[in-house]
Amino acid sequence: MTIGWCFDNTYFKLSKAFKEDIKPIPVKKPELVLFNKKLAEDLNLDFSNLDNQKLSELFSGNSLPEGSNSLAQAYAGHQFGHFTMLGDGRAVLIGEHLSKDNKRYDIQFKGSGKTAFSRNGDGRAALGPMLREYIISEAMNGLRIPTTRSLAVVKTGEDVIREAFLPGAILTRIASSHIRVGTFQYIAAREKKDELEVLLNYVINRHYPDIKNSKNKAIDLLANVMEKQIDLVVNWMRVGFVHGVMNTDNMSISGETIDYGPCAFMDTYDPKTVFSSIDQMGRYAYCNQPVITKWNLSRFAECLIPFIDNDQEKAIELATKIINSFEKKYEEKWLNMMRDKLGLFGVDEKDKFLILDLLTWMHQKKVDYTNTFCHLMNENIDDDKNYEDKDFQNWKIRWDERLKTNNNTSEKYLELMKTVNPLIIPRNHKVEEALEEAKKNNLKPINQLIKVLKGPYSHQKDILDYQIGSNSDKKYQTFCGT
Ligand code: AMP
Ligand code: MG
Repeated sequence: MTIGWCFDNTYFKLSKAFKEDIKPIPVKKPELVLFNKKLAEDLNLDFSNLDNQKLSELFSGNSLPEGSNSLAQAYAGHQFGHFTMLGDGRAVLIGEHLSKDNKRYDIQFKGSGKTAFSRNGDGRAALGPMLREYIISEAMNGLRIPTTRSLAVVKTGEDVIREAFLPGAILTRIASSHIRVGTFQYIAAREKKDELEVLLNYVINRHYPDIKNSKNKAIDLLANVMEKQIDLVVNWMRVGFVHGVMNTDNMSISGETIDYGPCAFMDTYDPKTVFSSIDQMGRYAYCNQPVITKWNLSRFAECLIPFIDNDQEKAIELATKIINSFEKKYEEKWLNMMRDKLGLFGVDEKDKFLILDLLTWMHQKKVDYTNTFCHLMNENIDDDKNYEDKDFQNWKIRWDERLKTNNNTSEKYLELMKTVNPLIIPRNHKVEEALEEAKKNNLKPINQLIKVLKGPYSHQKDILDYQIGSNSDKKYQTFCGT
């Protein structure tokens, strides 16, 4: 019985400009903490013949599977607006695995040791942030939002030095690719048009094959990536997700959520919600996420200019036209998403006011974002007295009126609402509790949390404790995933 690896390492075949060929640095005493059996099955990988020791050796990078070609990817990025040359400073891609349906997946170890891109870092990761990425990325998948996935976490048996000595860990991350806006920025900064052309074609072949033969591939790529990113950020807004560090190096070309550092979910509705301790100015606040998406896409567009048109001015004009269509596209998709959250069919020109009035009320009354939509679906979780408020009751009368249009029925609208309004999100206090216990070797809470987050739209028994917000968002702070 073999595991079923089917490597086809196309990124490895690219030139030195794109990467450093390097192996993970072995660790002292690897020990498996989490393993995602269902994801392994979906990838057509069967690890059932490996005992925990063998799994630990594998997911620490101590023993690499046959057919892997490991490398660290080069990329750059605007970090809080400032351009820096970066790269995988603490991760290696061990290869691209093809599943039976011929889907291609990057298999990456995060926390695997120093690379040429480590700068002053130690190339390692601490257990807490790797477990946190596992929880939140799998929760995102449960919420049906495009994301990188988590296959395993191992402890390394070595300490990392942060604010204290912390146990080290490695996360096995699965992605449709790890190519970022920053990958384009890195290659563009080298000012070698042939290298940039290689990347452009590589990305189109891998992620957007439909535009392979189009007349203006670069402009079509920009438009396609924009579409994916708008869909992604609309999804984040839908569930109250704050990514927290939307640097261009953390924006995937495939449209998957990537790099779970200081992210968290909003409890109390406040558009200015920020969790990250380093985001002093609120650049990456909940309400800024669409604006930043557009800003990042503009940086992407800049990289593509040489391929949009030989006449630079014309190229800029064409790219600007696409970028300037962002707001209209975003608003349309966001409105449709909010209509779904309220169970509304069809389009009424007053919908926008209905939606904004609800959000304004939620902000004023400091109610829970997720649970307010649950309340509207008759799922009363925290029986908040605010829902008896007269303004809310008056708003509900308007909502009821609108619900009566377009042959809607309560069965129909509840069915729609149930597909987009989660009954459960990763509540900050539950995530913290699970991490605290996992650090003390009690894996029960983390496994239970991961389990309930798999089915956020369905009724599950005894989950009330997971549904109640901590109501103290202001105090909740996250730190970059180091
Ligand atoms: P991130 O904040 O995780 O998106 O990382 C930003 C950049 O810093 C990336 O190039 C990472 O590879 C690098 N980096 C983060 N932590 C470390 C570390 N402990 N050692 C080396 N590089 C790191
Ligand atoms: Mg990153």
